[in-house]
Amino acid sequence: MSTKGVGRKVLISGNWKMNHTHYEAIEVVQKLAALLRATPLADGTEISLHPSFTSLRSVQTAVESDSIPIALGAQNCHFEDKGAYTGEVSAELLSKLNVRYVIVGHSERRALFQETDEIVRRKLDAVLAHAMCPILCVGETLEQREAGLAESTVTAQLNAALVDRGPQALESIVVAYEPIWAIGTGKSATSDDAQAMSAMIRGELEVLGGSVSRSMVVQYGGSVNPGNCEELIGCPDVDGFLVGGASLDADKFFQIARAGC
Ligand code: PEP
Repeated sequence: MSTKGVGRKVLISGNWKMNHTHYEAIEVVQKLAALLRATPLADGTEISLHPSFTSLRSVQTAVESDSIPIALGAQNCHFEDKGAYTGEVSAELLSKLNVRYVIVGHSERRALFQETDEIVRRKLDAVLAHAMCPILCVGETLEQREAGLAESTVTAQLNAALVDRGPQALESIVVAYEPIWAIGTGKSATSDDAQAMSAMIRGELEVLGGSVSRSMVVQYGGSVNPGNCEELIGCPDVDGFLVGGASLDADKFFQIARAGC
């Protein structure tokens, strides 16, 4: 059983970003499958993998044909279902591959691809409309943190995406707190900071949705690795991780997932 207690879900998500060909993706999935067979995760702890679009179908086939306990995830989607949007992939298309989780509003998408809060909200709508779970990323820059604006920045992002959604919709939304200064830098937040921000997020979720906030998954993301995952998962309001770099390696990612058990 999860150390988080009865009924508390833990989600460990691997965001592969623009890495791993579909051959490499299958290799990692097979290694993870062997590790999971030898040492299954505790009830209540789930893994999701978010490969590039070109690997989704291969990973889906591998996972489904061998009944590997890994949920399929995507890194992004378009908010329209279909149409003249060259190069884009819709939530509808993802849902047909049995994708369960879709990352929405990752800081790299916000910063490098000009995704506004408005776009993030529309993507969230699309993911929910196709009965998948969005992983909504929120987080502050170093400048915002140093100016004492971490909480107000994250609160504004949460409100823009989540206000006026009922508890039923909120129940299937995962929030990932990802301080931008910790992503890909090797410098994770301290467990005190991760806990303080996650508790603040859960407080905002309570304002938005009431008691459903208690069962919502709040992940931490930002340079999570096998060396710091135990301490971070010990934070009462951290229900899992969104892992970038360390998720590319099956052994490292499995060690991180084990911390959630
Ligand atoms: C991420 O991309 O969401 C992330 C947390 O990356 P990393 O683990 O490499 O910091």
